[in-house]
Amino acid sequence: DQAEFDLKRHIREVPDFPKPGILFYDISTLLRNADAWQVATGRIARVVAGWQPDLLAGIESRGFLTAAPLAQRLGLGFVMLRKPGKLPGETISLSYGLEYGQDTLHIQADAIRPGQRVVVLDDLLATGGTLAASVALLRKAGAEVVGCSVMIELEGLGGRDRLDVPLHTLMHYP
Ligand code: IMP
Repeated sequence: DQAEFDLKRHIREVPDFPKPGILFYDISTLLRNADAWQVATGRIARVVAGWQPDLLAGIESRGFLTAAPLAQRLGLGFVMLRKPGKLPGETISLSYGLEYGQDTLHIQADAIRPGQRVVVLDDLLATGGTLAASVALLRKAGAEVVGCSVMIELEGLGGRDRLDVPLHTLMHYP
């Protein structure tokens, strides 16, 4: 039964990756299970469709895994938010702070028509820095961001509080 399906059972927890002391939540084990992957995308699709977006945006690289197939399923376009040096032509960028150092995301300058409704997808929300920067970048590019969806939310880091748009998450960890 879809409603009862336990997705968390398919997430692998990897200690000390990518660095000692970090517990990494690995979605690879969910993706490779056909039933789990169907249930996950089905649940995300229902929520995202309710926000009535014009476009879906995926954050490189694991955000692409949900955003591209969902865009197909919902009959929407798909836009990539990428690391520096990847997108051809004119781009708009935004830099944001990480625990150590900073990172930058780019979007093609002509990707969004003014006022288009966009939903942003990624695999996991930790501090919220990546998703908050993505929302800000999409607004800079002219979007109306109508929601965010991630498969996993790490609740203890307060990432949700850094967002000023509705956030949907499939699985929660303290
Ligand atoms: P934040 O910016 O601190 O919210 O971190 C979220 C970003 O880091 C996302 O793009 C995730 O893909 C990545 N990330 C952080 N921790 C994990 C993890 O345990 N598993 C998978 N990705 C992670």
